[in-house]
Amino acid sequence: MKVYLDNSATTAVDKEVLDAMLPYFCEIYGNPSSLHAFGRNAQKAVDEARAKIASILGAKASEIYFTSGATESNNWALKGAIRASKNAKKHMITSAIEHPAIMDTCHELEKEGVEVTYIKVNHEGIVNPEDIRAAIREDTVLISIMTANNEMGAIQPIAEIGKIARDEGILFHTDAVQAIESQPINVDNMNIDMLSLSAHKFHGPKGIGILYIRSGVRLDKLIHGGHQERRQRAGTTNTPLIVGMAKALEICARDRDRNNRHMSELRDYFIDRVLNEVPYSYLNGGREKRLPNNVNMSFGFIEGESILMTLDLKGIAVSSGSACSSGSLEPSHVILALGVREELAHSSIRFSLGRDTTKEEIDYTIETLKETVDRLRGMSPLFNVEKGTGSYV
Ligand SMILES: *Cc1c(COP(=O)(O)O)cnc(C)c1O
Repeated sequence: MKVYLDNSATTAVDKEVLDAMLPYFCEIYGNPSSLHAFGRNAQKAVDEARAKIASILGAKASEIYFTSGATESNNWALKGAIRASKNAKKHMITSAIEHPAIMDTCHELEKEGVEVTYIKVNHEGIVNPEDIRAAIREDTVLISIMTANNEMGAIQPIAEIGKIARDEGILFHTDAVQAIESQPINVDNMNIDMLSLSAHKFHGPKGIGILYIRSGVRLDKLIHGGHQERRQRAGTTNTPLIVGMAKALEICARDRDRNNRHMSELRDYFIDRVLNEVPYSYLNGGREKRLPNNVNMSFGFIEGESILMTLDLKGIAVSSGSACSSGSLEPSHVILALGVREELAHSSIRFSLGRDTTKEEIDYTIETLKETVDRLRGMSPLFNVEKGTGSYV
């Protein structure tokens, strides 16, 4: 059996999305910036896609900018807002659990003299909006808090944070990549000034994303060149990927309730069974305010990487830490931020379900996980098989 439980790393392109994209590779392939009919036909598809995306987010079409993905969108939002600010000193606020596309950008900005406050989360992974209010200073330019976390699925109080930012007259950006499939987002109701998306996280193609920028918000450019995207983001307009992303977002909104019900039922069944049937298993993050597709658990006395590799041999794809930090032996900054101790952070595994995940796949995964954990504990110097208990030295 092949079981893909790594949908937070990337998803399969939906068949409907692929069908929508296909005409724009070999038939309607003109450059949308060209003035002839080939170009105009492509431009029409891009205009329609932009309008569709805008209406789903409660935005205006002129506020949607296409990028190469959320990494670029996050870089643009942060660097663009900070560099456009005329403050003598510049401060920004983010959380301790952001994706590397935010974290690493903040570290770059710190090298330029920007001061960054990293707001801590509670043991369920949630930011307290009052902590953000308390961190605001005279020179605060920007607040950037992700809508939902990619590793343990915590959903943040974005509307409350947006309101604080608006009351204080500070720009508010959110990385909504992981949230958009399951959480309806309206940029006006939530007082969002900038929002990042990446299509491949919601069954669209890789290499295309969005930065929503509220009209009136001034950002320095990140990518210089041609006049595309109202002169704000250069580079030839990628018609097929844009069309695919719009289709994928439309499907998310259309099927959201049904998919959420399906995934959250499987998620809860998975968590309950593992907690009951695998000794020394722990859920990372809270059960409320959790993405319907996210299960992140630690397994005492064994390494996450060993679990991942053993499951892989059995056809099951999961992730340890975030996809971006695996390969390094540092425990995940997100799991550590929950207050999980280092040994258990090292043994964390993310199972990210998809809209097509089945109960049979989850049952197979649970049975395989039980065998795997038993076998690895049998080889672990930290675990006493006879007594069925372990200890960290
Ligand atoms: C995947 C991801 C990104 C980066 O998206 P790319 O497609 O790699 O640019 C940013 N933020 C979050 C929360 C993500 O999960």
